[in-house]
Amino acid sequence: MKKLLSCLLALITVFAVSCVSPLRQYQYTLNQYNNDSVVRDVPILVDLAFDNQDVIIINAAIAQWNYALNGWLHLHIVGYVFVDDAELTKYHSGWLFVKALSTDKLTIMHDKEQKPGYHALGFVNDIGGNQLFIIRERLDNEQVLGILLHEIGHLLGAQHDEAGLMVQYYNEIDYQCIDENTIKEIAVHEKLPVATLNYCTLD
Ligand SMILES: [Zn+2]
Repeated sequence: MKKLLSCLLALITVFAVSCVSPLRQYQYTLNQYNNDSVVRDVPILVDLAFDNQDVIIINAAIAQWNYALNGWLHLHIVGYVFVDDAELTKYHSGWLFVKALSTDKLTIMHDKEQKPGYHALGFVNDIGGNQLFIIRERLDNEQVLGILLHEIGHLLGAQHDEAGLMVQYYNEIDYQCIDENTIKEIAVHEKLPVATLNYCTLD
């Protein structure tokens, strides 16, 4: 009887914990980096307007993508630049991450593409492009990582999807990690063998 009671208590405890946490746990596949992989370097310039805390989050997003890409592509920050209109029109061999404002003309343009009552939180210059914009003033600190993961997905060639990281409108569950559908789409775009990449599954 005592054992039954303690089991019951344990069950209630687990249930309570899962109710308290709004996020489901995710796990990544464990494919190891293969030395035969072709490494393509993706150098990234980061807007000086981001503060140190944001740069830490940008590095966390890059690290998560590098884990998923498993050595085939290597994303890394190479420097920090002052971003103005001239910088945006300049040729960059790598990527540029920009801290956009609500009042920027590009932001206003993307806001017009949203459904009524919604506004853009981030955007890229193109699917498979090389410029990523975060409208930082519209984001809580805990939303920045997810928006970065999603927008990097676009730079790597992913379109919007019905569910998972590439779903069009932000939600904290779908935007927490790089799921199988997203990695499959990127494998096609980047011509990578999908079985050698990593992706997350939710418990
Ligand atoms: Zn998107």
